[in-house]
Amino acid sequence: MSLTFDHVTLGQRVLFGTGKAAANLAAEAARLGAQRVMVIASDRETEMARTVAADIEVALWHHDVIMHVPIEVAEKARATAAAADIDLLVCIGGGSTTGLAKAIAMTSRLPIVAVPTTYAGSEATNVWGLTEASRKTTGVDDAVLPVTVIYDAALTLSLPVDMSVASGLNGVAHCIDSMWGPRMDPINAALGSEGIRALSSGLPLITADPSGTEGREQALYGAYLAAVAFASAGSGLHHKICHVLGGTFNLPHAQTHATVLPYVLAFNAPAAPDAEARIAAAFGTIDALTGLQELRKRLDAPTALADYGFTADGIAEAVAIILPAVPASNPRPATPEILTRLLQAALTGGDPRALLDL
Ligand code: NAD
Repeated sequence: MSLTFDHVTLGQRVLFGTGKAAANLAAEAARLGAQRVMVIASDRETEMARTVAADIEVALWHHDVIMHVPIEVAEKARATAAAADIDLLVCIGGGSTTGLAKAIAMTSRLPIVAVPTTYAGSEATNVWGLTEASRKTTGVDDAVLPVTVIYDAALTLSLPVDMSVASGLNGVAHCIDSMWGPRMDPINAALGSEGIRALSSGLPLITADPSGTEGREQALYGAYLAAVAFASAGSGLHHKICHVLGGTFNLPHAQTHATVLPYVLAFNAPAAPDAEARIAAAFGTIDALTGLQELRKRLDAPTALADYGFTADGIAEAVAIILPAVPASNPRPATPEILTRLLQAALTGGDPRALLDL
């Protein structure tokens, strides 16, 4: 890998501590001089969010959170924040909740303090996403980067094991896809490698002991590194595929990432030997795909897009939307035939090794 590169590190405070979210949030709200705080938390996370926000004054609670941020949901939340004269957004929840806070920040320029409860990593990126008429649009705007992230592994204890696995593999996907993203550089690769190491050691601890915090701390730490690498490297082929499957076919984000990842890795790895070697080293296995597949097997990870509502009828439309978005940085050219083979295999959980020598 050449050591001539441009790298931007995004500025953000990260406060990490199990059991410390409420105290850290109160300290951050005071440090930022917040007077009118809007807390965003989905109905499912409301009880947990009330505990986290116990030591701050909340001017407005907002619970209308929907995955992939439909534009109508964003506009309603923006109007509510403006009417309540809010000066700080606090989001407590998964990537969908963070995504709604970002949609408000996009237009209001309000600061965000993010308290993530999954391993999606949106809190560490300056990327926003909105869905309108079945098309998901993403963009980059530093105003949507949370000023502070508060990580507390205790908040992830209620995340069911299957969702923890899928979400953690979404983190692994950030690490792997950043190795060939359009702005990939050695700093991203180093962060991604450590992210793979932390996630692949933390996730099996979660499945073995879902009520322990050690694995959950490792997974949160890995998810943060993964997201920083992804934000810097930009979306690679894997993200472009999952983005279409989520935005146009409404597939669940984390499970889609977890399912598609081995196919993209199998396809790209032979043409990206440096990335392949780094990923293999991070997993501690003979090759990258073996490392990913051994981890997925241990975790009983999602295997087929058909399990999440995707059907063969959707493949041609998906390929047509993905194709123009494939980054020029992708190590192998992705033709319509290849994308079709890849989606056919991911649909049914076929052997990803069939893509190695396409
Ligand atoms: P999510 O936020 O929708 O959460 C998934 C489910 O888990 C929901 O039902 C939620 O209520 C539940 N949940 C969350 N935390 C929980 C907890 N601690 N205990 C119990 N249940 C809990 O899903 P996600 O995978 O975290 O995020 C997906 C969204 O985030 C997508 O829209 C995706 O595009 C976006 N995203 C954006 C970026 C970015 O950089 N902009 C990065 C990653 C993901």
